[in-house]
Amino acid sequence: MDTNAKLYQDLDCVLLTRDQIAARIKEMGAKITRDFEGKPLLCICVLKGSVVFFSDLMREIELPLEIDFISLSSYGAGTESSGIITERSSLTRDITGRHLLIVEDIVDSGRTLTYLKEHLKKSTAASVSICTLLDKPARRQTDLVPDYSGFTIEDAFVVGYGLDYDEKYRNLPDVGVLSPRIYKGE
Ligand code: 5GP
Repeated sequence: MDTNAKLYQDLDCVLLTRDQIAARIKEMGAKITRDFEGKPLLCICVLKGSVVFFSDLMREIELPLEIDFISLSSYGAGTESSGIITERSSLTRDITGRHLLIVEDIVDSGRTLTYLKEHLKKSTAASVSICTLLDKPARRQTDLVPDYSGFTIEDAFVVGYGLDYDEKYRNLPDVGVLSPRIYKGE
């Protein structure tokens, strides 16, 4: 059995197929292209979970743009947010006068992006917007509303397309609901 087939056995179901994701990202890229026309755009990839989404999305934005990476952490090896945000690595580009588009894999409690947005709003950037592939509004603990959202999903722990559990499953091309027996050790 190949590795991906083994990983798929750990899913309760596939929630979003690679084709659904690709089609939605095309739409998101077109909207972002319209909205940021003529503006200096810096797309910020929030590592590591959004790396797959980021690389697909940036190729659907038909504008001159720059990219940068930031690494934040709020989750440990579990499926619940610790609520404490730590910055593991920072931006390297000058953000002065740039329109920042923060690209995230999933907004859950909202704490991570609320922290990042507030931090960047105090900077010399021209504007700060948030783009997420997935949104779980049922679990929100802050008033954060993403400017661009790919899919609104139910309260479930999902993996694949960059999203991990304990650093695994990131290479699955689809997004699936991880079976609780994996993280509850049943
Ligand atoms: P928040 O601060 O909004 O609670 O959490 C954001 C981060 O938590 C995401 O970037 C992601 O790393 C992680 N996260 C939240 N929900 C899920 C989920 O369903 N699956 C995975 N793999 N990570 C999640």
